[in-house]
Amino acid sequence: MKENLPSQLPWQFYQQILEKIPEAVIVFDENQVIRYWNPRAEAIFGVSNDDALGQAVFSLLAPAAESSATQAKVCEEAEEACSQVFHSSQLRRHDGKGTKIYVNSSTTSIAIESLQWTAAFFLDVTVERNQTRRLARAAATDPLSGLLNRRGFQDQLEQHLSGKLTLAIVDADNFKKLNDTYGHEAGDNGIQFIAGILRGCFPDALCLARLGGDEFGVVTRTASAQETEIAFEQFILQVSNGAVGDARTPLKLTVSVGVAISNVEGTSARELLTTADRALYAAKEAGRNQLKANVINV
Ligand code: GH3
Ligand code: MG
Repeated sequence: MKENLPSQLPWQFYQQILEKIPEAVIVFDENQVIRYWNPRAEAIFGVSNDDALGQAVFSLLAPAAESSATQAKVCEEAEEACSQVFHSSQLRRHDGKGTKIYVNSSTTSIAIESLQWTAAFFLDVTVERNQTRRLARAAATDPLSGLLNRRGFQDQLEQHLSGKLTLAIVDADNFKKLNDTYGHEAGDNGIQFIAGILRGCFPDALCLARLGGDEFGVVTRTASAQETEIAFEQFILQVSNGAVGDARTPLKLTVSVGVAISNVEGTSARELLTTADRALYAAKEAGRNQLKANVINV
């Protein structure tokens, strides 16, 4: 039979464990008054043991998303305040700057002689969380233009499909020739040049992406066909009026744009893309440096 920890192990041993573990451990009584605060809690929440003992839990720990209105409510209802803290994955550090920290938390309670004691555990996962977010952002971003890549574009588009959307595909004209004549670096500058103008012309776009090669995607909420065409005509004009590269060797570039304007909620991504693609093909056929728009009404 396996033996449990012997009952005569001294309290100091358990205290050593509580002081070494990587989680903040906080013990509070039935009045939510802090009675134990380990060194990791000092480090995570930026409050010393001396300052924490005797304080109400919710006066030191607050959910990060909380508004001042809920803060007032929180102080009136201590138990609810504690529950908010323990159900929040984001807390504010008590350091004056209110730095946000991400935590995994859990609690355990025990009643001794009708008095309730609770221990709360917080593991600081801010570094891992930020790392995961950085990686997710990098996986969805095109490094050359800084816009979303095709994968990021598709993910974002999916999230907005329930509304009425306008999707445009922008493709640089005769881009192979620019690459062949002036080199790949000039081509790369051209891609960055188009991305910059896209950002300036569509600051409120739902997504802006480089879909690959010299092709870009723009998704906006549907406005009137006239407004949409004016916006893209201005974009086309800004590209053709600008110059790629330095002032000594300026290169000219033009783009063609195919736009799918859907007046229907819930048009599929596939329909938006094929409609915009068809319009783009028509714009290229019609001589490039222009836009064609197709409206989806049913
Ligand atoms: P069109 O007017 O019909 O669009 O003709 P195009 O020459 O632009 O043809 P297309 O759009 O098919 O060619 C895209 C070219 O973009 C092909 C490739 O040489 C170039 N390209 C793709 N990715 C990159 C890149 O990352 N950097 C550079 N410099 N060129 C790229
Ligand atoms: Mg092209």
